[in-house]
Amino acid sequence: MRQFNVVVLGAGGVGKSALTVRFVRDVFVENYDPTIEEQYHRPLTVDGELSSLEVLDTAGAEQFTSLNELSTALQSGRGFVLVFSLTQEASLKEVESLRKQIFRIKGSENVPIVVVGTKSDLVSEREVPATTIESLASRWNLPFYETSAKRNWHINEVFEDLLRQMRVRYPPD
Ligand code: GDP
Ligand code: MG
Repeated sequence: MRQFNVVVLGAGGVGKSALTVRFVRDVFVENYDPTIEEQYHRPLTVDGELSSLEVLDTAGAEQFTSLNELSTALQSGRGFVLVFSLTQEASLKEVESLRKQIFRIKGSENVPIVVVGTKSDLVSEREVPATTIESLASRWNLPFYETSAKRNWHINEVFEDLLRQMRVRYPPD
């Protein structure tokens, strides 16, 4: 079975751990320790083919003690989930910056990436309109998903999309 390393990145508090744990364990954790970086493993069948995902839930870019540590995380990843919160427009800035750092470290823009707006269940707290997402998606040419780890909305789609991209980018020898 082919194995793919995935790195989950984004600002603190946007819901990286909630998203990751919903995907790997199918539960919603309300208060995950924000300082813990952890790697999870989950098998995933897409298009009739089983693969294994190694998902690294990082502790937020501002938690990386050195730029070097961030580089190591970026180098280890074959695919990236860039996370922002739909309830916090400012968290999109971190996605923009991470996207550029990934391209720089990979030396290419041909990198499997999915952008995820979290907490879509918090409708009355929403700050990022659909129009902003549409214009960024076309400018960046990246797939966007709106998810809720709490309600389990569109979580699997994120990882299925990323796995399809990784299979194309890294074909079997
Ligand atoms: P991280 O720092 O990016 O790992 O963020 P966490 O996963 O720890 O989540 C930060 C806060 O947002 C926690 O209080 C979570 O309960 C909350 N949260 C995360 N995802 C969701 C969601 O889909 N819906 C709601 N309502 N709250 C969420
Ligand atoms: Mg976390």
